[in-house]
Amino acid sequence: MSTYYNQNTILYYNGEYLKAADARIDLYSQTFHYGYGVFEGIRSYRTESGDTKIFKAVEHYDRLRASAEALNMPYHWSAEELIDATYEVLKQNNLQNAYIRPLVFAPANMGFNKNTESHIVIAVWEMGLFLGEKNLRVMTSPWQRPNPLGFKIHAKATGHYVNSILASQDAKAKGFDEALLIDMNGHVAEGPGANMFYEKDGVVYTPSLGNILPGITRATVIELCEELGIELVEKHFTPAELKTADSAFFCGTAAEVVGFESLDDYTFPQPWENSIGKKLQKIYKAKVTEAGVAVS
Ligand code: PMP
Repeated sequence: MSTYYNQNTILYYNGEYLKAADARIDLYSQTFHYGYGVFEGIRSYRTESGDTKIFKAVEHYDRLRASAEALNMPYHWSAEELIDATYEVLKQNNLQNAYIRPLVFAPANMGFNKNTESHIVIAVWEMGLFLGEKNLRVMTSPWQRPNPLGFKIHAKATGHYVNSILASQDAKAKGFDEALLIDMNGHVAEGPGANMFYEKDGVVYTPSLGNILPGITRATVIELCEELGIELVEKHFTPAELKTADSAFFCGTAAEVVGFESLDDYTFPQPWENSIGKKLQKIYKAKVTEAGVAVS
C-alpha cells in the first residue's frame, strides 16, 4: 500500500488506536493549506537486552510542546501520556527499530485566526540503524535557512520543510548527496534535516543556536564530547572556514551520525576512520542501543 503502512498498520489518533488505512483528515485543515503544524522525528531501538527503547523520548515530546506553543497552537497532552501511547503503538505494530512521527495539526480553518483545538497523530514505521555506511558529498546550498525574524526557526514546524525540500532536491539534481544551508548572514546553519559539526586540530565546532533547529542529537553529541574530554566550541562560521576543517559530519535522529566526504570541491583530508566524528558515531550507536562500548 505504501512504504509507511499497510492494511494492518495502527496509528495513535486523538486518544484512539486505529488503522492507518481508515484514518481520515479534514481537507479544510489549516495545516494542510498553510503548513501551520508541528511535528517530531523520533526513533526507537531494540536494545542489547532485547527491550524497545525510545531514544530521548521526553526531550522530543518537550520539543513538540515547545514548537506548538511557539506557533500558538493549543496543546493539551503531557509528555508522559504521549510516551505511553508511543510505546503502545510500537507494540501494536510489533516494531522495535522504528521511526516515530508525531504530528500536531489544526482543524478546519481557512483563515489565519487561532484555533481552539488541535489534533494529534502518531505514526510509526520500521527503520533500522543507518549510521552512514557511506560518507556524503555535500553541496553548499544557494537556498538559505528561513530568516528567524520571519519564522520561529527553533520550532519544528511543517511549513519550514518547504525550505528543506527545495535545498535537498536542488543538491541531488546537481549530483550531490545532500545540501548544507547557510543562514541570512552567510554563516553555516544546518542540513535540510540535520545539524552539522566539524573537527579541526582536535577541536570540534558546531553552529551556535539562533538560526538552526536545536537538535536533540546535536545536544547528545555535545554531551558526548564533554564526557570524552573533547573541546567543543559553538560559534558562527562561514563555508570558507569549514573548507579548512579536517573532517565534518551531520547528526540528527534519522541520520544519526554521518560523515562528510566533501563540501563542494573540498575533500576533507582526515581519513574518517581516524576522526572524532567516527568515534562519536560508534559511541552514539552504543548509546541508543544501550550497548557497552570500549572508548579508546
Ligand atoms: N535540523 C533540522 C532542520 C531537522 O529537521 C532536524 C531533524 N529533526 C535536525 C536539525 C536534527 O534534529 P534532531 O537531532 O532533534 O533529530
